[in-house]
Amino acid sequence: MQFLKKEHARSFFSVKFQFVFREAEVENARVKIFPKQSTIPHRNGNAESLGIYVHVPFCGSACDYCAFYREEPRKASVEAWLSGVEKELTLVSFPRAAETFFVGGGTPGVLSAGNFSRLAKMLLRANGGNAPAEWTVELAPGTVKPDKLRVLRDSGVNRISLGVQSFDAGTLSLLGRRHAPKQIFSAYEMIRSSGFDNVNFDLIFAVPGENHLRWENDLATAIKLSPEHLSAYCLILEKDAPLLARLKKSGKYNPEEKSSEREAELYLKTWEKLSSAGYEQYEVANHARDGKKCIHNSNTWKMAEWLGFGPAAASQCGGKRFQNPANLALWLEKITDGVSAHEEIETLSAAQLFEDAIIFGLRLAEGFDLSELSQRFGVPAGTRLPALAKDLREAGYLESGIPENIWRPTKQGLLVADAIALKILEIRN
Ligand code: SF4
Repeated sequence: MQFLKKEHARSFFSVKFQFVFREAEVENARVKIFPKQSTIPHRNGNAESLGIYVHVPFCGSACDYCAFYREEPRKASVEAWLSGVEKELTLVSFPRAAETFFVGGGTPGVLSAGNFSRLAKMLLRANGGNAPAEWTVELAPGTVKPDKLRVLRDSGVNRISLGVQSFDAGTLSLLGRRHAPKQIFSAYEMIRSSGFDNVNFDLIFAVPGENHLRWENDLATAIKLSPEHLSAYCLILEKDAPLLARLKKSGKYNPEEKSSEREAELYLKTWEKLSSAGYEQYEVANHARDGKKCIHNSNTWKMAEWLGFGPAAASQCGGKRFQNPANLALWLEKITDGVSAHEEIETLSAAQLFEDAIIFGLRLAEGFDLSELSQRFGVPAGTRLPALAKDLREAGYLESGIPENIWRPTKQGLLVADAIALKILEIRN
């Protein structure tokens, strides 16, 4: 189909839906500190769910491919940030108990064990003493320490997302990541021996200058270590990323290498390898062993509600979407004055949510049921969406031979999910 050109939509999700990603089981330990709390039952992919995202904006050093907002982790700034989150949690009340907590960044691992303990207590207090079904903390390999893991485990954290990126020293250095491969192995060992049985690895492929072998070795090493979850992301170099400037200056940047054909080939190989290793692909970049899909992210992709805390954190709740300023001082100033730091407040119509649920649903391996979404949001499916589905089926992007209201992308469909999303926006306009 002529309209589905991947290159037209390359950064569609990172631009329009950046807010969603900015960014997201240990009963005995939890009971030790918070004996009275109950546990929110696990409802995988529940539209009624509430997720809590805490943004830790600190990074010890800057990765060369990163164009995100970040702050230096000075002791005073970290203390001020923690007090700010504590205050913000009293200013923004949860409409109901949260099912998931996700502490992301930035580099949450720059927090000390004491910082984590304080953060965990304030989150549980804000959640009425209820432990969430899933509680993820992102950690960079170089920041993993036994005392932090002990506190996290004792507080009820039950999922660790480890920012591996690559096991290859050259690739890590090119990306500007400060950890060495051996730190990944020792971090993973510490995480396992601390009792965590739900671990994710973040991995990056399509790094300029890499050959297929590098990525194949990374995948093989990851599979051998056998985490429960793997997120394999294709590197997208934003125009402000220092790595892009550096590569261009050195004459090593070859745009051909970043062609959509090559990326598609890498995606397909990755999916095939992970599937034969027993990982089920449930989203374009996400793969899990049985029962270990990330509940927090699954819920946000299904247009459930979530509240973000900390600078730059985004939220979608009560029919609105809003964002905190990406500036620690500015965010603190508002929070300290006792006013909400929410800005860029957008009131969402049912039609917008319906459309976004379709767009994100196209990135999910299970797809979605158009009739169900239509009913959920009270928006008629009309005639243009079913006509588009028919075209997509004929072109091999949606599965055939299943009820017509079910949109389930094929592997080829997952590859062009961004382009289909643009087509849906065109239909709306
Ligand atoms: S990629 Fe992550 S850890 Fe690296 S500088 Fe950006 S936010 Fe910090």
